[in-house]
Amino acid sequence: MGKVLSHCPYCALQCGMAITAEAVISPRSDIPANAGGALCQKGWTAAELLTSGERLTTPLLHGRPVSWETALDHVAGRLSEIRAEHGPDGVAVFGGGGLTNEKAYQLGKFARVVLGTSQIDYNGRFCMSSAAAASSRAFGMDRGMPFPITDLAEADVVLLAGGNVAETMPPFVRHLNGPRLIVVDPRRTATAKLAWLHLQPTPGTDLALALGLLHLAIADGLVDEEYVAARTSGFDAVRTSLASWWPERVERITGVPVPRMRQAVRALASADRGIVLTGRGAEQHAKGTDTVTAFINLALALGLPGREGSGYGCLTGQGNGQGGREHGQKADQLPGYRKIDDPAAREHVARVWGVSPEDLPGPGRSAYELLDALGTPEGPRALLLFGSNPVVSAPRSGHVTDRLRALDLLVVADIVLSETAAMADVVLPVTQWAEETGTMTNLEGRVLLRRQAVRPPDGVRGDLEVLQGLAKRFGHAFSADPREVFDELRRASAGGLADYAGITYERIEKEKGVFWPCPSPGHPGTPRPFLDRFATPDGRARFVAVEHRPAVEEIDEDYPLYLTTGRVLAQYQSGAQTRRIAPLAEAAPEPFVELHPDLAGELEIGAGDLVRVTSRRGEGRWVARISDAIRRDTVFMPFHWEGANRLTNPALDPVSRMPEFKVCAVRVERVA
Ligand code: SF4
Repeated sequence: MGKVLSHCPYCALQCGMAITAEAVISPRSDIPANAGGALCQKGWTAAELLTSGERLTTPLLHGRPVSWETALDHVAGRLSEIRAEHGPDGVAVFGGGGLTNEKAYQLGKFARVVLGTSQIDYNGRFCMSSAAAASSRAFGMDRGMPFPITDLAEADVVLLAGGNVAETMPPFVRHLNGPRLIVVDPRRTATAKLAWLHLQPTPGTDLALALGLLHLAIADGLVDEEYVAARTSGFDAVRTSLASWWPERVERITGVPVPRMRQAVRALASADRGIVLTGRGAEQHAKGTDTVTAFINLALALGLPGREGSGYGCLTGQGNGQGGREHGQKADQLPGYRKIDDPAAREHVARVWGVSPEDLPGPGRSAYELLDALGTPEGPRALLLFGSNPVVSAPRSGHVTDRLRALDLLVVADIVLSETAAMADVVLPVTQWAEETGTMTNLEGRVLLRRQAVRPPDGVRGDLEVLQGLAKRFGHAFSADPREVFDELRRASAGGLADYAGITYERIEKEKGVFWPCPSPGHPGTPRPFLDRFATPDGRARFVAVEHRPAVEEIDEDYPLYLTTGRVLAQYQSGAQTRRIAPLAEAAPEPFVELHPDLAGELEIGAGDLVRVTSRRGEGRWVARISDAIRRDTVFMPFHWEGANRLTNPALDPVSRMPEFKVCAVRVERVA
């Protein structure tokens, strides 16, 4: 059987797969992320997505099957009417971190050139945006992990704050077999159980913990003064700002004992090669950017970033979370990771697009602000949504659902009738991973190629084809050929931070992926971009003084428990794909609420009981699970099913506009 080399449809590890025309999957051992040929159960079962009986194969208009011509004519006609009545910002576009680079690029161009709207953002704003903002602030550039994944196995110590890789991306764990692992997480997750040391802070206090760790490093003389003097700026202000973060105060706030903090910081400081990683647990807070900054400050003080085998990195979550934020579907960015309000960036991209820079809209609303404004007098009246399911994944999702209902036009392109697609006026059935070709940029910043392996079902179209069809109805010529779109993306990104100019499909295949920046065909790509200098104007990494502040919503008499949310092994993101795969649905069939045995005893809740969980934004009923992996003051819920996010808090980080998914106050009661 002939095999096509491609990659997994799901997470940012982008494990390599070989796929036959009959959709038989086998792991690849030539892709470093796979750690010698591993896949998790999500990857092994991904072929079921291709043959799912729930697959959409006909466009739907108000629930009725129609032809593609009818559907696209209707969408273009209504968009024109709404634009005429409400102006270009009366229509909005929402993308996703699972879209290929080509789709993300084309979606941004479609919004700005065809629709002329500033109202475009994507669900990656809910994932990595705080780490991206903190990395940009510190290093002048955000490239997830700015080192190859194989560096992890060579490290002596890895500190992982707020990531449960043993469940979210299991092959990643193989890269952690060598180093001593320190995990920061309020839950004793599957990853924390593997750790040499587990620090279990109160939800919402990671920032205080990071400040305390750096305070201890300074007090114990562990700072790499030579590195700080040679490669950084701003340390004195940070040193001064940390004076009051003495360990006992940090222990009071976080609940982490001082000796454990000291053990962690000494291990990291004594390592020849040390790596600090952050995940959503540290990032999805209204102070997420500052929390990540505090961990970066710690890494800088210990001399880690920009040294081979050491560093700071963010664990990107979605399949193309990295590339998806580089090519223009973000409200504030143009392709090449360019700022949309930078005149030189506008000039360059406008030239590639054949338009005048003055005609390009400026920055728009961030993801939650955009969803929150839908259907309001000042907000967009129409939404085109690709690769996202906000009815499940947005914070305060009950309110977001109401806003979607208030629209004059909701258009959803998806492979199945997701919760959001089920509400749409128009549903467009599109191709998926193994049915199409395109590039993905994984969590290392390595650009990879997914090759089409199987024929799509009759009736579906690629997203690029959909955009082409719509653009044509507005008088614009868009290519639907992924290679042509990628070549244009290369030109648009040239000279930007995320410079893909030298990357071609042929090179990706030959070299098993190419790291950006790669500014010319002869350039080898850049696995470790900070070895000589950081991407700041003076080449130095910037310390930034930050202060801890409490969670936006603290527990009180009415809502006496913290809620934190996360993922389980067998499901992925909003579950629209994985809930439809039989072995995964069997392994993780339903949502649940995890409570500590002491709390369960006090509330007279037994395992399997139905409980009501209520926050200030909504409520729901779920099955209880009892586990001592969770703190007594905290309950945990997975977010792969509709409901958990009805409870979460949309309070936004002032820099990244990331919502505070990871902590809010709730009440839990047994349902009689
Ligand atoms: Fe690899 Fe992630 Fe796919 Fe699992 S879901 S096989 S870890 S890419």
